[in-house]
Amino acid sequence: MTPARVTVIDQARGIAPRAFDRQGLGARDPLAAARLAKLEAAAEGRDATGILRLALTEEFPGQTAVVSSFGSESAVLLHMVAKIDPTTPVLFLNTGKLFGETLRYRDRLQDEFGLTDLRTIGPHPDDRARLDPEGALWSRNTDACCDFRKVVPVKRALQGFGAQITGRKRFQTNARAEMTTVEYFDGRFRFNPLADWSLADLEAYAAEHEIPPHPLVEDGYPSIGCMPCTRRVQEGESYRDGRWSGLEKDECGIHIGVDGEGI
Ligand code: SF4
Repeated sequence: MTPARVTVIDQARGIAPRAFDRQGLGARDPLAAARLAKLEAAAEGRDATGILRLALTEEFPGQTAVVSSFGSESAVLLHMVAKIDPTTPVLFLNTGKLFGETLRYRDRLQDEFGLTDLRTIGPHPDDRARLDPEGALWSRNTDACCDFRKVVPVKRALQGFGAQITGRKRFQTNARAEMTTVEYFDGRFRFNPLADWSLADLEAYAAEHEIPPHPLVEDGYPSIGCMPCTRRVQEGESYRDGRWSGLEKDECGIHIGVDGEGI
């Protein structure tokens, strides 16, 4: 794995995470730029656990949240977080369209890892009534559906936190290919300790620590999100081909940074 890298996402221009933009950020928020430079130096050369410690115990104790989908790849990050501090707030986004297996997997991991502050978040009832009264918006406009069911609730739930941890990996999507280990986005610092990890790395960690897989994995779902937008993967397809199949879409919201699976 390569050493940690740090970047700033320029929300105003809406670009994907890529080159470090000290000048652009500094012009708007010099304090954040200075803090980011400090984090960049501190993160350099650390492994995933070291980066988590940087966020959870050194720089943002009591101010850091993990946003998790409890999908097929979520458990590794949650296991690491629980080892460091099981009281870390974990925000579980229940879109209202998840598989029942995911809800049961959430309960199992909470119990096995001893997570003491698991918070379920979701779309506001008013938004559901106004935007998707029949619950079928996903069939007409996936971006609009993801926006009110995912992006808005996550943004609301993260208010008040100084930092966020995600399980996003560079190998997952084109938009994440140049993602760096620490970012500054939407008013808080975002740590991606698994950015350099491969599927093989995840599998090796899960095997070593005897982490239970999501129950749908062995049923042909290597990447798991909402039920209407996830299908089984056929032989020869990539592991994310079952997500939003047939659409030019591989993220729920370009900067949502849920946990690596885009739920
Ligand atoms: S993944 Fe599908 S069902 Fe879930 S929020 Fe997005 S469009 Fe809606």
